[in-house]
Amino acid sequence: MPLYKSQPIKIYNSLSGDKENFTPINEGNIGMYVCGPTVYSNVHLGNVRTFMSFDVIYRYFLHLGYKVRYIRNITDVGHIVDDVDDGEDKIAKKAKLEQLEPMEIVQRYTVDFHDVLKAYNFLPPSIEPTATGHIIEQIEIVKKIIDNGIGYESNGSVYFDVVKFNETNHYGKLSGRNIEDMLANTRDTDGQSDKRNHQDFALWKKAEPEHIMRWPSPWSDGFPGWHLECTAMSTKYLGNHFDIHGGGMDLKFPHHECEIAQNEACTGQEPVNYWMHANMLTLNGKKMSKSTGNNILPSEIYSGGSPFLTKAFSASVARFFMLQAHYRSNLDFTNDAILAAEKGFYRLMEAVESLKNASFAISNTTSIDIKTWKQNCYDAMNDDFNTPILIAHLFEAVRFVNVLKENKETITKEDLLDFSTTMNAFVFDVLGLEDEKAAAN
Ligand code: AMP
Ligand code: ZN
Repeated sequence: MPLYKSQPIKIYNSLSGDKENFTPINEGNIGMYVCGPTVYSNVHLGNVRTFMSFDVIYRYFLHLGYKVRYIRNITDVGHIVDDVDDGEDKIAKKAKLEQLEPMEIVQRYTVDFHDVLKAYNFLPPSIEPTATGHIIEQIEIVKKIIDNGIGYESNGSVYFDVVKFNETNHYGKLSGRNIEDMLANTRDTDGQSDKRNHQDFALWKKAEPEHIMRWPSPWSDGFPGWHLECTAMSTKYLGNHFDIHGGGMDLKFPHHECEIAQNEACTGQEPVNYWMHANMLTLNGKKMSKSTGNNILPSEIYSGGSPFLTKAFSASVARFFMLQAHYRSNLDFTNDAILAAEKGFYRLMEAVESLKNASFAISNTTSIDIKTWKQNCYDAMNDDFNTPILIAHLFEAVRFVNVLKENKETITKEDLLDFSTTMNAFVFDVLGLEDEKAAAN
């Protein structure tokens, strides 16, 4: 019997604002889509935190025996600076700045992203689709939205009519916004824009002559709006209705709100059962940001080459540091905090090593409660993937190992095997930590 049958999970659903029992659409199978990076610059440690939250969620599903199709895309076109419709494409802007072909920018930072994921021991997703690889699918969706009366063409661009959509659906249900308030708080377009309403968003943008990233379409030579790619790629690989959609908290609005609207306008169906949002990583109490210099690159952790660090740390220590906070909590990175995490990490690794070597006597009886401890570990993860509580239980296990070593408690051969297998499963398979000493040998 697969483990998931005896380990029911609760997930906090951003759409309902409640922790809900998790039931996949098809028993034993999970479809999960997570918004990937926009590859116009190196990912920073904050981005890594969000992807790590979903890596651990993916790992736990696999551990429970689910068959998971995990899609994480690469955004290589369409993400406009400041998320406004009339700005410049982030990748095209960088390409101009560096006098490179946009696809050279995409390649450079996709390679960097993959290097980081490898160093931080991420499992690869099942599919990693790109926005530019799905232009045809995106055009098809735009056509459907126009046919359904929610999209309109204006000067070669196509926009999503948010007001029209809201007559029959609820635009704002994910982010808790109300269209009347949004419209009241923004000026009307004064005929200055191609849009009917200020809140309308681009599905397709006509490319200006100097715009280098462009594709032919029924409306103009242009490029897709940012939100469209995720609707196209999630439904292509997971169907019109799937289990989980995730991303960072800052993507809730407008990105995910617009995704829901597009899906509903296209298929008439609510696309996702569970919306999950990971919280932000700050640095010394301030937002991590490229432009202000208040950021740490993932590679600076193990090189130590950052003014915010007094020394280098292994990627596993950084992983451990980040998983000490729940994915929905804000987490502040400081040098002191990662120094403290490093001590904890090595204590944990030492206990795992002692367990592996079984450096204590085997008895006919077990005096520690391994069964309750084991279920406590599962309960922590079953409760909306509560890694800090899981880690607290792993430190309970460190205490067990120490008292066993001192012969203050006893354990049978069978229980020792169960204890050790469970410990390894949570430390290595689920949390994705790596024992550096073992890796070095
Ligand atoms: P982007 O490449 O900007 O689309 O971001 C990639 C992912 O990282 C998105 O899911 C963002 O929500 C997330 N993200 C951006 N900044 C942070 C941060 N400081 N902490 C955690 N996640 C972040
Ligand atoms: Zn997305």
